[in-house]
Amino acid sequence: MNWLCIDFLNSDWRDWRGSGRRENRLEKQEWLEQLLHEYDLQAPLPIEEASAAALVRLRQYLRGLLERVVRGEALRQEELEELNQTLAKAPFYVRVISLDQENGYGQELVSTSGGWELVMARIAASFATLLLPAHVQRIKICDNEDCRWVFYDESRNRVRRWCDDKMCGNLMKVRRFRERQKEKK
Ligand SMILES: [Zn+2]
Repeated sequence: MNWLCIDFLNSDWRDWRGSGRRENRLEKQEWLEQLLHEYDLQAPLPIEEASAAALVRLRQYLRGLLERVVRGEALRQEELEELNQTLAKAPFYVRVISLDQENGYGQELVSTSGGWELVMARIAASFATLLLPAHVQRIKICDNEDCRWVFYDESRNRVRRWCDDKMCGNLMKVRRFRERQKEKK
């Protein structure tokens, strides 16, 4: 399952190997293009400064909420206000479309607004869905302090700790092993 809001949050990339390197992928035209394409969204590129700044602000705000949710804290209604305002700025609705005999009916989301404002509303909607009881316990942040990648844990018992077992998972195992070796000396 792909989550627009999770991909958006992970635009704040950190080097999981611990070099301390960070990359704001919202500044990368190619990355933005890919995101829009993947979620069937349209917005003007190259992005103007004001929209880029608004995206960074939204990311910061959502990251703050997500960190707290992951820690098991409850969000108060007034803390969700900015999320609701982002949704209200570009309302969209479902339109039913008749495809053909074989495929039946489909849906599309339409809106009278557009551009980055609508993209932000869609990100907010994705985040709002993530907060629903069916999903909220599956939101995770990678246990590797250098990584902190956001992911959706689809494992049956919700036991995943790392964004990627082969990368962060292995790195953490090696680190723990070395620490234990040191303690033995
Ligand atoms: Zn990771």
